[in-house]
Amino acid sequence: MSRAILVLPDPRLRAVSKAVGAVDDGVRALASEMLAEMYAAPGRGLAATQVGVTKRLFVMDATWKEGAPSPMVFVDPVILECSEERVRGLEGCLSIPGVTVEVERAARVRLRWTALDGSLAESGFDGFASVCVQHEIDHLDGRLCIDRLGEVERRSVEARFAGASA
Ligand code: ZN
Repeated sequence: MSRAILVLPDPRLRAVSKAVGAVDDGVRALASEMLAEMYAAPGRGLAATQVGVTKRLFVMDATWKEGAPSPMVFVDPVILECSEERVRGLEGCLSIPGVTVEVERAARVRLRWTALDGSLAESGFDGFASVCVQHEIDHLDGRLCIDRLGEVERRSVEARFAGASA
C-alpha cells in the first residue's frame, strides 16, 4: 500500500494540484493510505502532492504525537480568512527530511473544505493546526516552506538536496 513520499528536489513537488470535486471511494482510499503514510513517516500533515497525486487533498493530525489522535482529511480546502496577526515558528516537512526552518504565517485561518462524506465543512484553526493547514495548502499550490525563506537561506537548503534524487 505504501506510496513513497517525494523528496526535494523532485519536480512533482512543484505541481499545482487540481480540484478533487466529488468524493468517491477512490478519494476515500487515497485519504486512508495517506493517513497511514503520515503516521508511519512519522508526521503531522501530508499533502497528496507529496505522494505524487496532483489532487487538492491533504491529511492532518495535529495532536497525535501528544497522545490525542485526531485524524482529519481535507478535500478541496479553501482559506476563507487569515488573521492579520502573524507568528513565526519552526516547520519541518516530510519532503525536506532533516531540515527545520523558521517561517512566518498567519496566526489563525478560517478554512472551508469538503469532508469525506461529501459534505461541506468550515472551521477556524489556530496554533500548530493553523500553521499546518497553511503549510499543506502551500503544497497543493506547488509551494514549499523553504520558498518563504530569504533567497540565500532557501538556496542553501536546496544545495543540500541537489543531486539527492535521480
Ligand atoms: Zn511539507
